[in-house]
Formats: sequence, C-alpha cells, structure tokens
Amino acid sequence: MSDTFKALVLEEAEKAPAASIKDLKVSDLPEGDVLVRVSHSGLNYKDGMVIKGLGRLVRQYPHVPGIDFAGTVEESGDERYKPGDAVVLTGWRVGEAHWGGYAQMARVKADWLVPLPEGLTPRRAMAVGTAGFTAMLAVQALEDHGLTTDDGEVLVTGASGGVGSVAITLLSRLGHSVAAVTGRPENADYLKSLGAGTIVPREELAEAPGKPLLSERWSGCVDAVGGDMLAHVLAEMRYGCSVAACGLAGGPKLTTTVLPFLLRGVKLLGIDSVMCDYNTRTLAWERLTGLIPGEMLDAMTTEIRLEDLPEYAERILKGQVRGRAVVVLE
Ligand code: NDP
Repeated sequence: MSDTFKALVLEEAEKAPAASIKDLKVSDLPEGDVLVRVSHSGLNYKDGMVIKGLGRLVRQYPHVPGIDFAGTVEESGDERYKPGDAVVLTGWRVGEAHWGGYAQMARVKADWLVPLPEGLTPRRAMAVGTAGFTAMLAVQALEDHGLTTDDGEVLVTGASGGVGSVAITLLSRLGHSVAAVTGRPENADYLKSLGAGTIVPREELAEAPGKPLLSERWSGCVDAVGGDMLAHVLAEMRYGCSVAACGLAGGPKLTTTVLPFLLRGVKLLGIDSVMCDYNTRTLAWERLTGLIPGEMLDAMTTEIRLEDLPEYAERILKGQVRGRAVVVLE
C-alpha cells in the first residue's frame, strides 16, 4: 500500500477557507480504529457549507471535508471489521469535527461505520449518501405517525435536490401520490421520472401564508427547505397529518402560529441523520436498498472528482445541483 494519497484540504484564510488538493500520508490522519480506502464520497448541502466556511461547522484547520463516504477497510483494530470489508459512513460530524471523505484514505471510529448494504455498490451507496439516508428517515417518521397510501398527496419540497429526489422516489415506490415543489420548472420531466405526479411551482409556496390556516392540501410532507415555505406548508396540512422537517435550503428561521397544531393536530417531526443510532441506520439502509432500483440511483447521479468540489460547493448552495453528485476517488 502506498503511504501517500490525495485529499481536498481546507486551510484557514481571511474570508472563506482556501481549498487545494494535497498529497497526505496515512500518518497525517486523525486517530481512529479503522483505516478505510475511500472509493466514493457524496456532495451534500452541508459539504457546500463546510467548503465555503459557512455556519462555523469547522473549528480546526487544516481540515479534510466530506460528510459521507464508502470504501474498503484497509486496517482495523476493531473486531467488527476486517481488511477487505466494504463499509459506508454518514454523520457523526465526520467532515466537520473529524476529517472526512474527500480523501482516498480516512481513519474513523468503528462505531461510526455500517457495513455496505448487500445489493448496493459503493458508488450507489453514495448516490444515496447522507441526503438519501435522511429522506428514508423522513419517510419512516411520516409512516410512524400514521401516513398511509390511502391518505392523498404527500408533498416534497426542494424536490430536485438530493433529499428531495430520493424522497420522491421512495414515496412513489411505496405507493404514495407525490407532489414535488421546485423552483426549476426545467426539471419537471426528471421529477416525474422519479415518481412525482404533480409539479408545484416554488412561487406557490415560497411566501409565509397570508392566514394561519389555508385550505387543507397535503397528507404528509418531506421538507428540505424550512423557512417561509415550511410555514406555508404547515398552514396547508390536512387534519392530523405530519411534516418531517429535514432541511434549511430556504433558511433556518421558522415563523408560524400554533394554530395548525392546535386546530388541525398537525405534527412537526424533526429529522436528524447525524447522531441516530446503529440499528436505525442499518434498518434504514436495508429498506432503502430494497426500495430503490440501482438504475434509478444511477439516473439521479452526476460523477465528479476532487478538483470539481470548489465549484460544486457553490452550485449546491445556490440550489443548482440536480439529484446527487458523487465524488469518485479511485
Ligand atoms: P440540495 O441543494 O441538493 O437540495 C436542496 C433543494 O432545495 C435545491 O435543489 C432546490 O430544489 C431547493 N432550494 C434551494 N434553495 C431554495 C430556496 N431558497 N427556497 C426554496 N427552495 C430552495 O441539498 P440536499 O438535498 O443535500 O439537502 C437539503 C437540505 O437538507 C439542506 O438544508 C441540508 O442541510 C438538509 N439536510 C439535513 C439532514 C439532517 O440530518 N437533518 C441531512 C441531509 C441534509 P428545486 O430547485 O427543485 O426547488
């Protein structure tokens, strides 16, 4: 095994961190029980924030970003993993507080890994990535709170993005009618190919609702946008139905009234993919793998390389990436 490998390294600079591709040594990696040869990583909204230095997510530089990865165990000091095992990592603040997946090697805690689900290749696992894994948690939460296929349309906001694309696919594969909100009408055919039955123009829901309660429209919602759109959606939820709040692509602030909760029994469910436990993770991966055919994952994937990341970081923050961008490190 060659001792050096390529990584995207962020260094502290005045405005935004300076990003460059460097040759690192295995001895440069942070501590951990398992050394992984990374073959694929994903691009998530949070990766965009880390690369551009937003949200104070990284406190220590130099830093290797990349909040998820898939690869093969090279060395292991933990009995659960041995060299040659295929593994996946999402969450645990890897790529923020610990060096992440934008490198050909990563050293992490064994507790943070899950085995690569049977039936997925590393590339397809990263086509799912943190975004798709989060979409599965959101759909699961809606079901746990009573969503059934008889209920009517389920809304997905931020539809063309990573969370949105996988959420549409999952909901439609499960037999739900799906409405997709997008600010990019040119993606309508793509969203329909994933299973969206109705395309809702972003302008329709973008602003805070004029009244605390509007006509009841949605039987569930996977929300990747937050902000005024979430406030608007809450006012349009049908009696007793739930919104799974996953994201903040439209802003973190939520200004609403309690009336949807008090008068319609609407439920707002928080979704966190970072710290969720091992069993929840493995069950979600297993379910995802059974539900989404590999070709559908391929159809939402754009392959990029380490050198493309600074440009793609800007694009994802501007909502200009469609589906999932997968970083190939081999
Ligand atoms: P993407 O950028 O891939 O998707 C976000 C989508 O939201 C865009 O493609 C766009 O879709 C839409 N959008 C962008 N800006 C706005 C805006 N100002 N107003 C309304 N819609 C907008 O990001 P991801 O799918 O990777 O992540 C989505 C969100 O989920 C992020 O906020 C991310 O931080 C969060 N997230 C949370 C996780 C958790 O554990 N809770 C885990 C993973 C992600 P379109 O053009 O179709 O309108």
